[in-house]
Amino acid sequence: MLPALSRFIFIIFLAFIAAYVALINWGENVAIASGIAILAIPLGYSYINLARLRRYVLADDLESMPLPSGFWEEVFFRLQRLVRDLKLQIKINVQQHARFIEAFQASPNGIVMLDDQDQIEWCNAIAEQFFGLNFKRDVMQRINFLIRRPEFVQYLNRRQFEEPLLLSRMGSDSNLSLMLQAFPFGDKRHLLLIQDVTDLQKADAMRRDFVANVSHEMRTPITVLMGFLETVQSLELEKAQKDQYFDMMMSQAQRMKSLVEDLLTLANLESNTLPAPMQAVQIPTMMALLKNDAEALSQGRHALNFESTSSCKLLGDERELLSAFSNLVSNAIRYTPDLGSISAKWSMNPQGQGEFSVTDTGPGISSEHLPRLTERFYRVDRSRSRDTGGTGLGLAIVKHIANRHQAQLVIESIAGKGSTFTLRFPKERISK
Ligand code: ADP
Repeated sequence: MLPALSRFIFIIFLAFIAAYVALINWGENVAIASGIAILAIPLGYSYINLARLRRYVLADDLESMPLPSGFWEEVFFRLQRLVRDLKLQIKINVQQHARFIEAFQASPNGIVMLDDQDQIEWCNAIAEQFFGLNFKRDVMQRINFLIRRPEFVQYLNRRQFEEPLLLSRMGSDSNLSLMLQAFPFGDKRHLLLIQDVTDLQKADAMRRDFVANVSHEMRTPITVLMGFLETVQSLELEKAQKDQYFDMMMSQAQRMKSLVEDLLTLANLESNTLPAPMQAVQIPTMMALLKNDAEALSQGRHALNFESTSSCKLLGDERELLSAFSNLVSNAIRYTPDLGSISAKWSMNPQGQGEFSVTDTGPGISSEHLPRLTERFYRVDRSRSRDTGGTGLGLAIVKHIANRHQAQLVIESIAGKGSTFTLRFPKERISK
């Protein structure tokens, strides 16, 4: 193929030859016409190709344009390749961008991108939910016009983003605690990362409550004990009186001991995250043990009835099961007034689940307390629980043991009538 300049010279030469031949044979006019005609051929060819190019460019379909032959072939071929490469690059970029957006959307944390004016350039769905934003509506709005909490506005204005900011009572129900921190990036831009710390805050509050409760529970018997000690130390007392004081001191010391023991039991249960082992436990044998303890605790004040209607074994941790069952039995005895009756039963239900239940004719519990009974130190009647020697941890221990055995603790109670506490064990923990 001839290079462009040679081709041009060749066409001019051809036009001259044609004009010259025409001049000799047909005169001047024909010569001019034939020269122009020869020159018009490549021009026409170029015009047709450019028109085709325009048509395909306008239809955004340059890649499917059939390549012409000759001079334009290479130009169009390169153009087509350029467009194809560019389109491919754009497609890769779009896919990459979509993947980044998907990843940011999948984040459990809220993400907001702010420009140098603190205007929202982008935010994910979690951030929209946390702050009640709507990206389509709020894009390029200044964030401090949308989140108007004074501490947040101050945080933005101060520009000291080394420390995070805690925003409590956020969300539509004001029940969210959010931890927010701004990180600089790019050209004076900022990335706001927002984490939902509601559960952490709750756990922290529970821990503080727990420490306060334990301290309070310990302080009371210690104060009483010290009072008695001072009295015994400073007063000349008769032996009978002294013995009475010692008895009272012993009962306070006993109360502290029970509390420490229950705390240790709870700590052990909480630190053990594995499910309970599968030792085969003979519940009827355990029933006899429970009955003995119950008789000692009741001292004939209640009618007691202990029965096993099934000889199936329970697969679990014998010590833990005994602790859970005896907590339920001792609660029933401690809260049921004299002459009341208490029955404990081991049976299988129609679904093949094992049930240990304790029913009493005690004061019952009104329904608003039921969901909270297994919280540590939750009591319906604080003074009554103390009088009966309760630590406030019994049902929390039962609940933990139930969880470790994949069992359900079901509490049915009618205020004034009595209660039934049932531990329901799954079929997988029952053996013939
Ligand atoms: P406590 O050591 O105070 O008995 P628990 O965790 O064993 O603590 O029980 C929590 C609360 O549940 C008790 O303070 C009491 O108010 C209530 N409760 C538990 N068992 C019974 C029951 N059988 N009858 C009535 N109330 C009960």
